[in-house]
Amino acid sequence: MKLPFALAKRFVAGEAFGPAKPKVEQLNQMGIAVTLDLLGENVTDRAVAEQTTQDYLQLLQDIHDSGLNSSISIKLTMLGLDIDEEYCLNNLMTLLQRAKELNQFVRIDMEGSDYTQVTIDQFKKAHAAYKGHVGIVIQAMMKRSAQDIPDLAALDADVRLCKGAYKEPASVALQNMSEIRKAYKEYAKILLEKTTYCRIATHDSKLVEWVKYYTTKENIDRSKFEFQMLYGLRENTMEQLTREGFRTRVYVPYGTMWFPYFKRRLMERKENVFFVATTLFKK
Ligand SMILES: Cc1cc2nc3c(=O)[nH]c(=O)nc-3n(C[C@H](O)[C@H](O)[C@H](O)COP(=O)(O)OP(=O)(O)OC[C@H]3O[C@@H](n4cnc5c(N)ncnc54)[C@H](O)[C@@H]3O)c2cc1C
Repeated sequence: MKLPFALAKRFVAGEAFGPAKPKVEQLNQMGIAVTLDLLGENVTDRAVAEQTTQDYLQLLQDIHDSGLNSSISIKLTMLGLDIDEEYCLNNLMTLLQRAKELNQFVRIDMEGSDYTQVTIDQFKKAHAAYKGHVGIVIQAMMKRSAQDIPDLAALDADVRLCKGAYKEPASVALQNMSEIRKAYKEYAKILLEKTTYCRIATHDSKLVEWVKYYTTKENIDRSKFEFQMLYGLRENTMEQLTREGFRTRVYVPYGTMWFPYFKRRLMERKENVFFVATTLFKK
């Protein structure tokens, strides 16, 4: 059964690039950069992975032609990671070659823990060939991030730091929010100190306030990092940070395959379930 898009529209900018584009323009006009995510994950059919690669190439072209201030965020399982790793890497390199030609940037989102190692492996190959055009995501909740963060920082990798959106077992991931916050701060310190540019992706006011405090205290220039938030969340905070002179970027997802993304946003916060339920009863 296909669920009505109206359910997801608080979190998803549209079912195609066309309807999402004015929202990106609006954010850009406010001084907020964007990263566009064509939604989908876990492709198991080569024809679909090929079509997805073509769609991402088209998206890079559309961003370029429209003059939008936007990078793209992709998932390796959309490029065929579940089919064959080499095949996925080839698709990634094809995208990065085009991103380089158009002077654009591709962020590799981090998926569930089964994919962490292979995502980092593919990122490192991509980074070696296309530094400045590719970045990765590290999840503070993952215990292995204590090694991954210094390792990636030593390569001057472009890292988006988030808490982690996937339900993971205690064997691999911290479960307690204060521990996750503590880890987040440690990793943010390393990235701020050791890398050229890092991305602080969180809606957590405690972390946002801490980054503001820490970077002021340590005299870290605002041109060395940006705050990132998801489309539809904490919009006022994002506008305020932009007005205060911080660099900001909103992750704008779109596409017909919105259900898994939408479900993760609902699972994160029970208030969203009530919000969505009430939209069902509105005209
Ligand atoms: C730009 C960006 C990119 C991301 N990319 C990835 C990725 O590649 N891989 C990955 O695993 N995760 C990713 N995430 C998700 C991230 O890991 C968390 O699941 C998500 O951001 C919630 O954690 P939080 O740090 O915002 O803090 P939380 O403690 O979850 O939230 C703090 C506060 O933020 C607000 N808030 C948070 N979530 C919601 C919500 N769903 N609805 C309404 N309000 C909310 C609430 O006010 C809440 O009290 C990304 C997040 C962002 C912002």
